[in-house]
Amino acid sequence: MTTNKKDIFKIISTLIFFAVNLNNIVYGGNVYIDQNKKPLLDYQVIGEKVEKIYGVKLNRPVTVIFKETPGGRFNCESNEIFINQNDPLQKKLVTIAHETSHLMHCQITNNKSTNEELRFVDEGLASIIGQRITGDEDSYKAQTKEESALERDKGNVSFELVKKWKKYFGTGNIATSNWKAYRVGSSFIYYLIYKYGEGTPFDFLKYLERSSFQEALLKTTGNSEQEIEVAWLEYIYEQGKI
Ligand SMILES: [Zn+2]
Repeated sequence: MTTNKKDIFKIISTLIFFAVNLNNIVYGGNVYIDQNKKPLLDYQVIGEKVEKIYGVKLNRPVTVIFKETPGGRFNCESNEIFINQNDPLQKKLVTIAHETSHLMHCQITNNKSTNEELRFVDEGLASIIGQRITGDEDSYKAQTKEESALERDKGNVSFELVKKWKKYFGTGNIATSNWKAYRVGSSFIYYLIYKYGEGTPFDFLKYLERSSFQEALLKTTGNSEQEIEVAWLEYIYEQGKI
């Protein structure tokens, strides 16, 4: 590196350092703020739990937009979460945890988690983590077993199907979308945990930043996509009997 380049590098590093710290000073390290930039301290602990589970710091602050319409949403580019202001507190908490997990997936995979073919992983894992932090994961897991076993019986579970997320799940319309698709996505995550250990879904996400679905799966599990698919369907079948 020439002296000139070194100087420019130093200036840029210093600017980034100040930008990050200025953000921390202005927002006091808060995870969440509302659209008026007011800190949302009631939700702080959710962000901290998400960080602990994934072992990664969230880009702060996350802006929470309260809207009148049902359903949660996220936007990785603007680092925003949208929740229904009319939901009861418990539902708001689950939604915040779920949507924060989506932002975390974007951070870890450099936004690849929002690619069509990875949406089933994105929703499957966000649903589990949302329930783990703020809801009832045992009931959610039981629901996952039941629904994914029924979907498998109908021939509705395969990588080919779930990777075409818009067709498989729908557009997100509350009434017309196939919400069982979330549980099928979660069954894949639960399979990875069951077979390869608790940390596997997080390792898998990290590999996804630089690798295709198939390569990331091979790096995480040592098995091919075809092998994993057979074993995942078998797992759903066995779990459905319990
Ligand atoms: Zn979601």
